[in-house]
Amino acid sequence: MRLIMLGPPGSGKGTQAQNLIQRFDIPQVSTGDILRASIKAGADLGRKAKAFMDAGQLVPDDVIIGIIRERLACSDCGKGYLFDGFPRTVAQAQALDAMLAERGEKLDHVVCIDVPDANIVGRLTGRLTCPNCSAMFHVKTMPPKQAGVCDRCGNALIVRDDDKEETIRKRLANYHGQTSPLIAYYDGKKLLRRIDGVGAPADIGQRVAAVFE
Ligand code: AMP
Repeated sequence: MRLIMLGPPGSGKGTQAQNLIQRFDIPQVSTGDILRASIKAGADLGRKAKAFMDAGQLVPDDVIIGIIRERLACSDCGKGYLFDGFPRTVAQAQALDAMLAERGEKLDHVVCIDVPDANIVGRLTGRLTCPNCSAMFHVKTMPPKQAGVCDRCGNALIVRDDDKEETIRKRLANYHGQTSPLIAYYDGKKLLRRIDGVGAPADIGQRVAAVFE
């Protein structure tokens, strides 16, 4: 199974991705997680990416395409993968098409989670992230069992630097300007499955699951 999760920041892509990677036993390839791990490790890649991320801008395409090329070469991607937060530009999608063609592979579905901007700002400003295992919580709608502590791994939860309101608005503007053209791109390839992303995570999970039935 080869999947892409598309949708604005804070649409619940990461949460829904968790269900799908378990269901299909495939790795989740999140460029955001790879970049954050690289920043934490003090690596060159992280140093280059951090200024873009903190400013709510996209990291340049060549950097991202390099990350994906390296990640796809890992053996666990042989059985499929789920891209979360990639591609984010038409240039990235075209580079992915070229990599897939080289590998003799095809995408199965592009799941696009639709959420209006007004809902996103409220969601992201309350978002809590685990810096260790990337699990997400929300102070109001999905609180952890113990305040400030990850249910999954017990690490302390944080508010991401780029989950501040001003940065969120910039990330949304990037989504509409640079990423939303991918909706038409994948619709043209008959791969797009649109999901209404407003509601409780479990209900949205059922809508996503229906794509695979
Ligand atoms: P995310 O966790 O997917 O919301 O990504 C956090 C930040 O990492 C984004 O706001 C971008 O600055 C950067 N980023 C992640 N994935 C990409 C990508 N595919 N293209 C460009 N920038 C990215």
